Amino acid sequence: MLPTTTQAESRWYLLAQRALEEQPLSLEQAEEVLHCPDEQLPDLLAAVYRVRHRYFGNRVQLYFLINAKSGHCPEDCHYCSQSRIAKTPIATYDLLDADTLLAGARAAWQRGAKTYCVVTSGRAPGQQELEALERIVPEIKRRFPLKICACLGLLDEEQAARLKACGVDRVNHNLNTSRSFYQQICSTHSFEDRMRTLQAVKAAGLEICCGGIVGMGESPRQVAEMALELREVGAHSIPVNFLHPISGTPLEDRNELNPRYCLKVLCMFRLTNPRSEIRIAGGRELHLRSLQPLGLYPANSIFVGDYLTTRGQAPEADLAMIRDLGFEVEQVPADAGTNADI
Ligand code: SF4
Repeated sequence: MLPTTTQAESRWYLLAQRALEEQPLSLEQAEEVLHCPDEQLPDLLAAVYRVRHRYFGNRVQLYFLINAKSGHCPEDCHYCSQSRIAKTPIATYDLLDADTLLAGARAAWQRGAKTYCVVTSGRAPGQQELEALERIVPEIKRRFPLKICACLGLLDEEQAARLKACGVDRVNHNLNTSRSFYQQICSTHSFEDRMRTLQAVKAAGLEICCGGIVGMGESPRQVAEMALELREVGAHSIPVNFLHPISGTPLEDRNELNPRYCLKVLCMFRLTNPRSEIRIAGGRELHLRSLQPLGLYPANSIFVGDYLTTRGQAPEADLAMIRDLGFEVEQVPADAGTNADI
């Protein structure tokens, strides 16, 4: 029998209260959120919004991503169209030149993004790529008031320290899924390899951006396991992707998500990681569809523009959505860079 509305409200209210009081949710409680009956979803969203509001008010952080090097990756991540095993006809190219990376930074700034995410395909950065980034990152930061997040694959401590030294603020390196499901989606590197990179990032004093992908065949419990693992990692920022099944990848036929489950996933990440930025990342438009605005009650961040190899909705639509909610785009601090040549 379903609980009455009052009982249901108090259940989600209670879990939100735990999050507000910094009492970590258990694995069972995190999983319970994912099994929230659809009838109780409005109550869950209302409860979780209190947590989002405590730490982020009604502000929405915008991120802008550039695919700085595409394709030819020797790894076999099953969701990825840039993998050697994917048969997807994508554009492939080596690291973009400095002018193009600067143009991307300008586009990020013009769209109101706070963070410019520079993403390269591949297992790990090569020496030339690192050197190129060491040249261009200071130039971007001199010209634009942007945070720089680098997503370059596996890193050791020396590489992470070099990124920190040249002005990178944050590194993105996703766990992607739970430890118990990892081997189902990748065989060329391990969950532990990814954890080692996160330790190197932390040791270098960089912020950690680390999230995952939902909808790859994992169970709700495994989604909850990933969220708790991210809490242990201490992720500043958690991009929550919903699998966009790309033709030509091993996961091309997976399509098991619905908008209500996606909202529950976002609520669960907020409750398990109350102070972290929760970003609705890839698959937002595809899976949340008409419920996209509701995603911003638990989450406080989105990408503006396109994703790595899939299109996002027009930036004007994102800004209209934020305005319609009565929310506001988080402004970049005035002292976060002073020489924007725009
Ligand atoms: S390492 Fe990155 S680029 Fe390579 S297959 Fe995996 S996700 Fe794709």
